[in-house]
Amino acid sequence: MTTLSLTQVQKRFGAVEVIRGVDLSITSGEFVVFVGPSGCGKSTLLRMIAGLEPISGGELSIGGVRMNDTAASQRGIAMVFQSYALYPHMSVYKNMSFGLETARMAKAEIDRRVRKAAEILQITPLLERKPRQLSGGQRQRVAIGRAIVRDPKIFLFDEPLSNLDAELRVQTRVEIAKLHADIGATMIYVTHDQVEAMTLADRIVVLRAGIVEQHGTPLDIYNKPANRFVAGFIGSPK
Ligand code: ADP
Ligand code: MG
Repeated sequence: MTTLSLTQVQKRFGAVEVIRGVDLSITSGEFVVFVGPSGCGKSTLLRMIAGLEPISGGELSIGGVRMNDTAASQRGIAMVFQSYALYPHMSVYKNMSFGLETARMAKAEIDRRVRKAAEILQITPLLERKPRQLSGGQRQRVAIGRAIVRDPKIFLFDEPLSNLDAELRVQTRVEIAKLHADIGATMIYVTHDQVEAMTLADRIVVLRAGIVEQHGTPLDIYNKPANRFVAGFIGSPK
């Protein structure tokens, strides 16, 4: 079942067209990875899907419903950023519960969700700590936890591991894969790391200067790159 559909989506900043007509259909539960060089429009595309940036042209729909003008909070999407953007003065628990409290969810339900997310991410012993008392990897888990408690249909990750050291990157990547296997939500994940893309993706979407250059399974893209750009980017022997 298609959950997210982009039709000729465009984005202009002033006179500059940074997304130049992207068509993409994403299936419910799919893990899609956007790759491409710095400045090709990965974050802009993600921010438009999330509702953090208005769309200049084309159509975005979720579950068959046009979402172009729908507020971010109404899209059933949660986004995890590269910089964890945790509230420094709040405990880990509060960082995860705060958004739900703002949405006036019942306390018992909030508590259930926070504890379940903490369990999934193995951060239960850290719930009373402040962000400054956490390692980078632990902070990133809290940021992911904050997305999980919202129970979104779609998770968006914008280079979530790029601030972590090599070992933690591998560990957190494995955890994200496990999270996807466990909860079955649709995930769209931006990275410029080929290994992350190859290991996480059901499908890789290669972007270049605001257009989709190629999309396909990691093996397809690796074995049959559409052109030298894709081959060079994905590291194919061509
Ligand atoms: P990526 O995430 O792939 O590195 P971005 O989506 O951040 O790329 O940026 C794509 C292009 O859009 C870049 O040329 C960037 O400079 C430009 N851009 C992004 N945000 C803005 C903005 N708010 N105003 C003007 N230009 C922007
Ligand atoms: Mg970016």
